[in-house]
Parts: sequence; structure tokens; C-alpha cells
Amino acid sequence: MKLLQERIAKDGNVKSGNVLKVDNFLNHQMDIELFNEIGKEFKRLFHDYKITKILTIEASGIGIACITAQYFNVPVVFAKKAQSINIDGEVYSTKIESFTHKKTYDVIVSKKFLNPEDKVLIIDDFLANGCALAGLIDLVRSSGASVEGIGIVIEKGFQSGGEMIRNMGVKLESLAIIDSMNAEDGSIVFRD
Ligand code: 5GP
Repeated sequence: MKLLQERIAKDGNVKSGNVLKVDNFLNHQMDIELFNEIGKEFKRLFHDYKITKILTIEASGIGIACITAQYFNVPVVFAKKAQSINIDGEVYSTKIESFTHKKTYDVIVSKKFLNPEDKVLIIDDFLANGCALAGLIDLVRSSGASVEGIGIVIEKGFQSGGEMIRNMGVKLESLAIIDSMNAEDGSIVFRD
């Protein structure tokens, strides 16, 4: 997605540790016009699928998921992070290691909001090592629902998550894929 690549090139900030900061338009301040274009693009990519629900993870995925959901006319469910939980049978839970905070979270979704009939589109802001997505896929599958596809705004293609998820046979679409980035000179190279 050209518009997104241009925006990342203009406002993205490459940090050490393979972290790209996009606080200016995606992760802190949110550019809703851009989000709208992102939502439209996800609809174009997944229009053949009968999506009944969008699943994301708090916090950064929520804004993108909500704007995208307007194009699919379906509810958004976000997986909640908790430091620790008592598994009381009311929730599906999984563990996710946070790429940016290097912490492991229990992540939960209420059983009320994922059903075996659901056809789920998973949406998230970034894909790095794939831990967040693997956890979200696990939550969906625990409920008996199906993962119809995954939409990612920015995939860091030099990390292992994209290959891992595609090898699971899930349709994964990333709107911008970064092949390399350099914290020293701030350069970012996109995949065509
Ligand atoms: P993964 O689980 O694929 O390793 O990491 C994905 C999650 O970590 C995303 O939900 C995102 O919040 C966060 N993340 C991973 N890499 C980056 C990055 O370079 N920049 C930002 N802002 N978030 C990232």
C-alpha cells in the first residue's frame, strides 16, 4: 500500500533492537484518514470471505480493527492482557510474549464473544516474531471458530513471524512489508 509506505518513510523512526516507532500516525496519535484507507484495503483483500467478527489485541490493534470493522459490518473483539488470571472457565486464554516489553502476558477473551460458527479476521498493527498472532490464532481455535485471514498493517519481513504464520496455511496480508531497517542512518527498505 503506497500511501502507507510513504507515511512510514516520512514519519517512521527506526530504533535499536529492531523496533520501528510510528507514534505519529499509528501507535499514539492516530491518523484516521489513513486508518480509513487501511480499512478499505483490508476489505478489498478479504471481500470474498464471510467474516463475522474481527479479533485484535489491546491496545494498538483496537483503533485499526474498529475502522476496518465498519467496512465488514461486524463487531470487534479485543483480547485483553492480564498479568495473571484465575482460569474460571468463563474465558479462553493463552500466553503471549510481548515483543516490545519482553514480558509474558496471559491474554483472554470471554467465551461469550467467540463461537464455533464465527469466521474471524484477525487484525493487528505489527508482525515481528509472530507471538501475538500465534496466541490470537490459539484463542480462536480454542473456541471452535475459524481463522479466515489475518490483516497486518506493518510486517517486519526480516523477522520470523511472517514465515511461521504463512507456513500454518493461514491467509496473511500485510499492507507494508519491511525487508530491512537501520537504526544508525534511519533507512527503511520495503518489499515490492
Ligand atoms: P510479535 O508478537 O509478532 O513478535 O510482535 C507483535 C506485537 O508487538 C504487535 O502487536 C506490536 O504491538 C508489537 N511490535 C512488534 N514490533 C514492533 C515494532 O517494531 N514497533 C512497534 N511499535 N510495535 C511492535
